[in-house]
Amino acid sequence: MAYDRDNVFAKILRGELKCDKVYEDEHALAFHDINPLAPVHVLVIPKGEFVSMDDFSANASPEQIAGLFRAVGEVARRLGLDGSGYRFLANTGAHGHQEVAHFHVHVFGGAPLG
Ligand code: AMP
Repeated sequence: MAYDRDNVFAKILRGELKCDKVYEDEHALAFHDINPLAPVHVLVIPKGEFVSMDDFSANASPEQIAGLFRAVGEVARRLGLDGSGYRFLANTGAHGHQEVAHFHVHVFGGAPLG
């Protein structure tokens, strides 16, 4: 699947759409999900153009992969989730119900999760 530069997260990365930013570094951007499913629900996305976990894991550089994972941990610490715990996941492809075709990791926390 080719990367679509019109996807909503690409627009956020280009500054064409606003987001409620939590964290940013050279590799990743994190912002609150517009439709939160937990008291804390943040999305962490790589700055590179990757469609999904499949694309990212196959084609991202070691620095990009490390950067994204470090950003997930940094976001959790900044939001105070590291002590209480949290969940992260990446919906992938059709069966994973991935809606936005720019790789993203959901971070959920702030309460016991079902
Ligand atoms: P997924 O099903 O994993 O692709 O989830 C996409 C997520 O992106 C959903 O949880 C949406 O609520 C969220 N989302 C869509 N558009 C925006 C936006 N403009 N800002 C923040 N989150 C968004």
